Amino acid sequence: MEKLCNFNHEFIIVHLLLFASLLSFTNPTPSPTQDEQSQIISRFQEYLRINTSQPSPDYKKSTQFILTLAESLSLETQVIEFVQGKPLVILKWPGSDLSLPSILLNSHTDVVPSESSKWDYHPFGAHIDENGNIFARGSQDMKCVGMQYMEAVRRLKASGFQPKRSLYLSFVPDEEIGGHDGLEKLAQSDVFKNMNVDIILDEGLASPNENYRLFYGERTPWWLVIKATGAPGHGAKLYDNSAMENLFKSIESIRRFRASQFDLVKAGLKGEGEVISVNMAFLKAGTPSPTLMQNPWRNG
Ligand SMILES: [Zn+2]
Repeated sequence: MEKLCNFNHEFIIVHLLLFASLLSFTNPTPSPTQDEQSQIISRFQEYLRINTSQPSPDYKKSTQFILTLAESLSLETQVIEFVQGKPLVILKWPGSDLSLPSILLNSHTDVVPSESSKWDYHPFGAHIDENGNIFARGSQDMKCVGMQYMEAVRRLKASGFQPKRSLYLSFVPDEEIGGHDGLEKLAQSDVFKNMNVDIILDEGLASPNENYRLFYGERTPWWLVIKATGAPGHGAKLYDNSAMENLFKSIESIRRFRASQFDLVKAGLKGEGEVISVNMAFLKAGTPSPTLMQNPWRNG
């Protein structure tokens, strides 16, 4: 279950400071008042209550919600559907020096599915308990980030700040199913080229406490299929060079490599993001045959 612990203005301030350094802005704005804080939480809850879970996210509602917020911040808006029914919402705060490359703050609007019967509170209720914890699917991954961007922009605007570089906010669909119809299409488009982006902030790992960790790397998946071949033979006999024996040689060397990488993490010598993680995800081998089941001493 996703629970966003003690969501309060500290999260907003972290992003604000981050943007401030990106925007060469050094005077932090004052902390939000009690009233402003409850408005921030209400807006966040409203976003969480929109059911954008795969496989049928309500992108119409989330788009409308984002556009309404953008309007209240006087941001330029653009909705692009590279694939019908899968809108990308792009907001722009134009910079004062258009010759400078821009900053892009990305978040995805969809969330993974949830089984409400297994939740203490409804996954789209955005319930707040007495400790200030907010319960909702997407509270961490990653509607909180999208809303932090918005709230940081709101505070910067209210302080009279004007960025030198243009600032873009993108709200993209379908990240949870690969992003092919969302960010992937944007990255390949002229729209993106014209945005002249210099740096992008995206999601990291959810945090179970108030420590906000920043990541500056991306892991790259590499799917590897190993197909082993070898000599056929009677299942009850010992012989060399069978397909299974050859396959095990590969599996064993991968297993050893995996253990060596994992040992570095366990020993605290390397972080999770500094090693190569490898996992065997699927194994299909052999030909089901009565021969394998026979007792050779009884049946020959
Ligand atoms: Zn995510």
